[in-house]
Amino acid sequence: MKRFFTVFLTAALLTALLLTGCTSTAPQEAEFFAMDTLMSVKLWGEGASTSDVSAEINRLEALLSATRETSVLSQLNAAGSAELSGDTASLLTQALSLSERIGGAFDPTVYPLVEAWGFPSKEYRVPDQTELDSLLSCVGTAHVHFDGSTVTLDAGTRLDLGGIAKGYAAQSCAELLKEKGVEAAILSLGGNVQTIGSKPDGSAWVVGIADPADPSQAIARLTFEDSMALVTSGAYQRYFEENGVIYHHILDPQTGLPAGSGLLSVTVLAEDGTLADGLSTALFVMGLEEGTRFWRNSNDFEAVFLTSEGKILATEGAAPFLSGCEYSVIER
Ligand code: ADP
Ligand code: MG
Repeated sequence: MKRFFTVFLTAALLTALLLTGCTSTAPQEAEFFAMDTLMSVKLWGEGASTSDVSAEINRLEALLSATRETSVLSQLNAAGSAELSGDTASLLTQALSLSERIGGAFDPTVYPLVEAWGFPSKEYRVPDQTELDSLLSCVGTAHVHFDGSTVTLDAGTRLDLGGIAKGYAAQSCAELLKEKGVEAAILSLGGNVQTIGSKPDGSAWVVGIADPADPSQAIARLTFEDSMALVTSGAYQRYFEENGVIYHHILDPQTGLPAGSGLLSVTVLAEDGTLADGLSTALFVMGLEEGTRFWRNSNDFEAVFLTSEGKILATEGAAPFLSGCEYSVIER
């Protein structure tokens, strides 16, 4: 009996050693559905598991979702005021400051418009100009009164953090994994990719930019070695068609209409996931010319633009990572 236990223990230890030995090369992988999209995670090293990532995303979704009645955000939208703290306060602060920096192309008060077009319910419809005009009078960050903890919304104003929440979730997960001592990881949260560290086998990270005509295929590749957030916003990600016209989910807060800025998608590369997400939505609304001007006055992101004419343009700092396509470089 004693000998059986010794053999059993040795076998168990060996298995444990083998498994430990494997963790630096074989990643843990998982796929799950959250924030209304398919997500995947791959991580190397000990200290954390893929379920830490899904738990963190579920925790944030429960706070930030505009469609779940129980979320802090929905309760704020219903009551018109709330006390915020932690993640909700931090994300609203970032959303408002990004909106101010950009000058309106990114606006967290677009929710009444997003709802009028039927995107949250998926009961799509085209609102008429009278309805848009009346909703536009409640859109704009001047209708949000926030002192860092108490927030009050003017009558009719409602918040939507959908243009920035996945980036915030990716950034939170990246920080969590780093704290837990994870060596390397790649998170892919439906259009938002974030890498942590370098791949243990020394190979590069390769992230595809979706082909708007067939999003299951890559139209170009971004290849790099270290931590980075890469976020794509595109007209092809969520849309409906009525009478032969395509209406997509990124709205111009000035007109209330789907942004018609001549772009099919924008991919933003930045250190911070929240910033990359907010900027990808904003640059999509701004279009190539205004987006280029904004990039020239900034130093915290790079971008790849896909235009409706099928051209690919990369800012000077993004170009060295880009391959697999023909492109022009936007110089500083
Ligand atoms: P996705 O979330 O589909 O990956 P985005 O990050 O570009 O794409 O976010 C689009 C979402 O952001 C929309 O579904 C809507 O909820 C919200 N939104 C739409 N237009 C704007 C805007 N101009 N500013 C801020 N948020 C927006
Ligand atoms: Mg975004």
